[in-house]
Amino acid sequence: MAEFVGAIDQGTTSTRFMIFDHGGAVVATHQLEHEQILPRAGWIEHDPLEIWRRTENVIEVALDKARLTADDLVAVGITNQRETTVVWDPVTGRPFHNAIVWQDTRTDRIAAALERDGRGDVIRERAGLPPAAYFSGGKLQWLLEHVDGLREAAEAGRALFGTTDTWLLWNLTGGRSGGVHVTDPTNASRTMLMDLRTLDWDDELLGFFGVPRRMLPRIRPSSDPEHYGATLAAGPFRGAVPLAGDLGDQQAASVGQLCFEAGQAKNTYGTGNFLLLNTGHEIVHSTRGLITTVAYQFGGSAPTYALEGSIAVTGSAIQWLRDQLGIIGDAAESEALARSVPDTGGMYFVPAFSGLFAPHWRQDARGAIVGLSRFHTRAHLARAALESICYQSKDVVAAMQQDSGVSLQVLRVDGGVTANDFAMQVQADILGIPVSRPVVSETTALGAAYAAGLATGFWSGVDELSSNWAESKQWTPSWTADQRADGHRQWLKAVERTLDWVEI
Ligand code: ADP
Repeated sequence: MAEFVGAIDQGTTSTRFMIFDHGGAVVATHQLEHEQILPRAGWIEHDPLEIWRRTENVIEVALDKARLTADDLVAVGITNQRETTVVWDPVTGRPFHNAIVWQDTRTDRIAAALERDGRGDVIRERAGLPPAAYFSGGKLQWLLEHVDGLREAAEAGRALFGTTDTWLLWNLTGGRSGGVHVTDPTNASRTMLMDLRTLDWDDELLGFFGVPRRMLPRIRPSSDPEHYGATLAAGPFRGAVPLAGDLGDQQAASVGQLCFEAGQAKNTYGTGNFLLLNTGHEIVHSTRGLITTVAYQFGGSAPTYALEGSIAVTGSAIQWLRDQLGIIGDAAESEALARSVPDTGGMYFVPAFSGLFAPHWRQDARGAIVGLSRFHTRAHLARAALESICYQSKDVVAAMQQDSGVSLQVLRVDGGVTANDFAMQVQADILGIPVSRPVVSETTALGAAYAAGLATGFWSGVDELSSNWAESKQWTPSWTADQRADGHRQWLKAVERTLDWVEI
């Protein structure tokens, strides 16, 4: 009898396949990075075919490591980097262009024009999002305008749009010989094209971006008892497994952290940071720069919504220290380096590489290092980079508490940067509340597995999952209130310096 659930986690830097048992423990995992293609300043692309090859590979290797086959898996769920936009030809299976990644700023002008034309408020009200280059709608418009023949192909049904969940589900279910073309409401809610209330594409919003409805996937529940489809014997699973869960990565992490009650929140520290607060069945519009998004929709039940604080650059600032500056050999080294100095010596680093997301939403911002003196070393910069992750999160937590009236008692955290003990201590110090990390820190993949397993009855309901959450570590604040206030005041001054830097 099948005893395990699989999860494909298609992230910004890598793709992994994880296998979980009924207790939510990891049985096997395999992970591969893919290339970050940086053709110009502000442009970031991925090769969709490389992502598909990596996906096939991680599935095969993880199954081999665990000595399991398709028959051992009850179901597979998928979770993905959100907003990253793929367009492909369903007849040849070939992408029309590299995927435009969520951090890519080439569509700044499209977003600014929407605001100027007075369409911003319609998008805020209906889709829950401020017009920004971040979301898929403008990226899709850019492709339709810049790729030869794409618009005609889209109108003739010869071009399909998807985020990477959709791209992988299509490939896993047969691709050009009958792949399914589906997504879920959490992914669709990041496009600026979906109405949050109806969970359907909205004709007026489609009109803003000139997107033909024909090229869009069907929006199906995030946990679907009817299954999106099944994997193929000819594919990486070498057998038929139901594909039954699909959640954008941040919503998946929220499910993996079991934030099923209104008022529960989690913060994920990956390439960027994403704080999600469950607001139940209510659509809450923010007045402080948070966005409104679908948290999940399970089966036929009403959707659950969330307020989200998205931060573009957190863990990727550490990648920048490694890849662009070469001052560390790997991300983990940032910790020892930061600890080698007692403080940043008054230096602040605001990594506004893609403008600033929540709570500022300033596309005209660019990164800055301020307070420099001759005394500063790479160690101070590493420390300032880690502090910037925590200060950016502090600004989002503050906005969220003001918007929702919910006062967080503890912050549940996960993601790559939470391996950094120093950063998590600084986070507790800056926030003044404890920070708590669960035993299974791979909450994104776990959330996708939960969505798939709930759909097939492997788990009876969310109550059964609650016994799967256990804390591995908690950090408690050690700064005085004065230290906290002083540090934050200086940080906000540094943020000011990054604004109004580029013309849009
Ligand atoms: P994603 O799903 O967005 O690809 P992950 O959760 O895998 O992200 O986290 C990867 C990010 O975490 C990278 O940007 C990396 O720089 C950062 N990271 C990983 N380990 C550490 C560490 N020990 N200290 C600081 N940052 C880290």
